[in-house]
Amino acid sequence: MNEARAVLLTVLLCSSSLAQTQANKPSRSFFSPPQMTQAQKDNFPPELLSDLERIKSAALDDEYGYRQVAHLTENVGPRPSGSPQAKAAVEYVAAEMRQLGLDVQLEEVKVPHWVRGAETAVLVEYSGQVEGASQKIVLTALGGSTATPAQGLSADVVVVKSFEELNALGRDKVAGKIVFFNELYDKRKAAAGLSFVAYGEAVRYRGLGPKAAAELGAVAALIRSVGSADYRLPHTGFSFPAGIPAAAVTAEDADLIAHLAAEGKIRLRLTLTPQKLPDEVGYNVIADLKGSEHPEQVVVVSGHLDSWDLGTGAIDDAAGVAVAMETAELVQKLHLHPKRTLRVIAWMDEESGGAGSQTYTKDHQSEFGRHVAAIECDTGAAHPLGFETRISKGAAELLPPVLNVLDSIGATAAQPSSYPPGADISAMSEAGVPAFGVLQDGRTYFEYHHTAADTLDKIVPAELRENAAAMAVMGYALASMKNPLPR
Ligand SMILES: [Zn+2]
Repeated sequence: MNEARAVLLTVLLCSSSLAQTQANKPSRSFFSPPQMTQAQKDNFPPELLSDLERIKSAALDDEYGYRQVAHLTENVGPRPSGSPQAKAAVEYVAAEMRQLGLDVQLEEVKVPHWVRGAETAVLVEYSGQVEGASQKIVLTALGGSTATPAQGLSADVVVVKSFEELNALGRDKVAGKIVFFNELYDKRKAAAGLSFVAYGEAVRYRGLGPKAAAELGAVAALIRSVGSADYRLPHTGFSFPAGIPAAAVTAEDADLIAHLAAEGKIRLRLTLTPQKLPDEVGYNVIADLKGSEHPEQVVVVSGHLDSWDLGTGAIDDAAGVAVAMETAELVQKLHLHPKRTLRVIAWMDEESGGAGSQTYTKDHQSEFGRHVAAIECDTGAAHPLGFETRISKGAAELLPPVLNVLDSIGATAAQPSSYPPGADISAMSEAGVPAFGVLQDGRTYFEYHHTAADTLDKIVPAELRENAAAMAVMGYALASMKNPLPR
């Protein structure tokens, strides 16, 4: 028996006899206050816990974050990659961060520049059609879609519910047609708190449907909108370049197409005139509040600055940028000094390909070993429940004192995720950086997501303040605990 095996056996025996001893005692009372472990006490001394309480209280009484969302949505407006508004937003956030005394860098990012054009669709042939009548279909082009001829194209529609169904039809039945993917966004899952599961199931068709249809010779592709709005609103979003026009129809019109297609042949005239302009230069805004003891160690707090063009990008994701900015504002206002560097990042181009986070990875990969943690807020601004985490067991065991500070606002969940909990921090997470996403009540998020209704009125100020509290408390805790969070 080698030594390692001997040690292992001893540990197993000891722990099993310990378990037996405990089984004979009354179980630990649910009513006894949680005791901090020695490691928790070492990492979060009373002064730090009291600073975290002050940050939380200040956040719950601070309008800074809301003012940022209001400016970004109402004064700047929609901020699609490559747009003048995206540039203005970069300058605005950089100026705000400089005014707070942070060290600001603009990281150059090559971004696509796609602009929406006309978008109309009409059913021109269908079962039971009244002579001279047609049916309007409400839709919106997917990001990166190519254009139809200016006068539109007309083709028969093939309805499928899955990639399997499409492939079973084969080229013979697809070439020359408009393929319509009618995959449901499952509202029952969303109502039960599984909105991201519902999104994940349906969004595959937005991402890859047009490409799959194009490969079989389709002249255009439509998807059912990925989201739950009941007001005939289409949801745009990223789709892999397919070389054919691609659009999302409203849930109501998706049902209409499906019903009529079940009765017989249907023919659609589709007009989409978006343009792909030359690539532009965009920027990630990187603003450092330097650490007092370990400035080389970095905790990222972030959201993405670009948005889709239909609404003004309030919940997606001016809110995320705003709570990251507010983290710095609170720390400065309270004259606190994090041990490690708190780095506010306003990411560019999350929506249309992720060029911002890819560029950051290229430029900073060699420093990821000293990136102690990364937080992103990109799932709205509703009441926070806690965090999605992709961290080690040892790291998770240290967090309860921090979550305890957030108990009064209910943001105590630490929900392990097998995926990176934020698109822009995914490369860091894959490289081993402990990663956090602010976890909100997401039941209504996909009603507005990527629609014209993602506007400032969807932000509930009190809930935004809770999100700012969650990000600022966690960000400051990770930047000021005694040891870097274990990996
Ligand atoms: Zn987003």
